Amino acid sequence: MSTQVQETLVLVKPDGVARNLSGEILRRIEQKGYSLVDAKLVQADRSLLAEHYAEHQGKPFFEPLVEFMESGPILVLRIAGERVIEGFRSLAGTTDPTAAAPGTIRGDFGRDWGTKVQQNLVHGSDSPESAARELALWFS
Ligand code: GDP
Ligand code: MG
Repeated sequence: MSTQVQETLVLVKPDGVARNLSGEILRRIEQKGYSLVDAKLVQADRSLLAEHYAEHQGKPFFEPLVEFMESGPILVLRIAGERVIEGFRSLAGTTDPTAAAPGTIRGDFGRDWGTKVQQNLVHGSDSPESAARELALWFS
């Protein structure tokens, strides 16, 4: 595997900020060896969230997801490190917090609110293309 320093977008979603888990999440990122490059607390509006989640427009969970993401401040992080895009997704755990493995952020802290929306604490870009697009969107 070749050396591949990357940057990724991590969001601590409103549930993570409200539950005072920002520090715990950042601790896990830093413990893994990744570096914080930029950070800010943002109250996101609908148009930003619709663009961020463009791939999910039209899906049944889209509306509740946008409402949830609008419900409070989001901690926006630019994180750098070797293969950090894949690595942070691994730290986060799988989307469904009930299925996410213990030891992951979602597995340890995520809550499943049934059909409404998955309050799974974090977002991480899923590919180099997504990371470039999302970093430009949130740090424009
Ligand atoms: P992620 O990349 O792991 O965050 O997952 P996705 O990109 O597929 O979905 C974006 C976000 O929408 C997830 O983090 C969840 O908060 C929510 N979500 C995704 N799929 C579902 C679903 O099937 N049901 C519900 N209720 N929420 C979902
Ligand atoms: Mg995704």
